[in-house]
Amino acid sequence: MGIKGTVEVDEGLRQVPGTDVYLTTLDKLFNWARTGSLWPVTFGLACCAIEMMAAGASHNDLDRFGIIFRASPRQSDVLIVAGTVTKKMAPIVRRVFDQMPEPRYVIAMGSCACSGGVFKTYSTAQGCDEFLPVDVYVPGCPPRPEALLEGIIKLQQKIRREHGRWGAFR
Ligand code: SF4
Repeated sequence: MGIKGTVEVDEGLRQVPGTDVYLTTLDKLFNWARTGSLWPVTFGLACCAIEMMAAGASHNDLDRFGIIFRASPRQSDVLIVAGTVTKKMAPIVRRVFDQMPEPRYVIAMGSCACSGGVFKTYSTAQGCDEFLPVDVYVPGCPPRPEALLEGIIKLQQKIRREHGRWGAFR
């Protein structure tokens, strides 16, 4: 965007000199709002979920990023798959995802969710990307809360690059 007479103060944000008037795109506005209010479903499957809980607790404090765990998938836009996904559990995880409104995102947390981890068995899904569109993979067994935080920051970076994902406005 290069509107005559305005100056760029940040990427995609321009100011009319000498005023408090700023110009930007709807993409940037929506993406900015979305990255500051990611609401994951309160949901965990195995040991990795303990690290996810630690990420939300006072020491790491996900709230400071506007990340607030919600009790209903209908109020959530992030599914953190934290733990081993058995083939019996996979359709239920998928149903939770299907109940979330668009736009929605998936973080695979831990080796089990990324690739089945050490469980190369008939009963374990070899990665939740077998049945979910994963946006970010966070490896480790288990990944520390800082690693999950890094994964969330990667997701925010990905959202900042989105175009025209405005739900009903699209
Ligand atoms: S990756 Fe490790 S810590 Fe996480 S659910 Fe699997 S076995 Fe547990």
